[in-house]
Amino acid sequence: MSVSNLRPAYKRVLLKISGESFCREGESGISMAELSSVAEQIRDVVKGGVQLAIVCGGGNILRGKQFADISQQIVPSTAHYMGMLATVINGLALQDALESVGVATRLQSAIRMEGVAEPFIRRRCLRHLEKGRVVILAAGTGSPFVTTDTAAALRAREIDADVVLKGTKVDGVYSEDPMKNPHAIRYSDISFREVLEQNLQVMDAQAMHHCMEHKIDIIVFNYKKVGNIARAVSGERIGTRVSTEGRAS
Ligand code: UDP
Repeated sequence: MSVSNLRPAYKRVLLKISGESFCREGESGISMAELSSVAEQIRDVVKGGVQLAIVCGGGNILRGKQFADISQQIVPSTAHYMGMLATVINGLALQDALESVGVATRLQSAIRMEGVAEPFIRRRCLRHLEKGRVVILAAGTGSPFVTTDTAAALRAREIDADVVLKGTKVDGVYSEDPMKNPHAIRYSDISFREVLEQNLQVMDAQAMHHCMEHKIDIIVFNYKKVGNIARAVSGERIGTRVSTEGRAS
């Protein structure tokens, strides 16, 4: 998609990118090549004028539940706080990657750490968005035992986002895991209820319930395909749209 042609279909978007966006397939940590690719896509998107808030995950560094399961000395809540701090590391990296391609940003953290990030303050976040700054929201919700999917759903509600874009490694929501079954069917539209009833992997259940209750559509799409974030923001039908209505009957 040509950047100059990008006409956003939404005024305000919340983009959730998982920690996997920050590293190469099957690896952990931060790959500057992967990060730069995402940053360039985001630069092209914001040129179109959309207000963009990004919730970043931390799974490339540490996920609380997994870490607590394997480390007997670390209590689960500590492990989850470590996971939240991992999202701050990613947020800092994403901030510099975006600024290096000319995107104005602010990093806000749900856990106070004035030396590196502003605290998350809803009104201040909105002001940044109105001024065209990309706001990176780190440290999840600030509370343990949930994931950054839940943070994305809650923040989308708080900042009155028109849609949640959930960037993944696959092309949308499938009837089964497409990595395991090549005949799995991809849905172009599906309802929240169907996702929950069929236990399809979109976002965690808390996040799904929150979006369902507040009628915030989720678009699940493959952000690794260059240009797809712009396509999703422009309203092009890519990936899977999860909504109250679901499939057109
Ligand atoms: N986390 C948390 N509270 C939150 C958000 C995240 O405790 O509100 C912790 C949780 O342990 C999680 C980790 O931070 O596993 C990293 O986030 P997530 O697993 O959502 O990252 P992603 O899978 O998106 O890379």
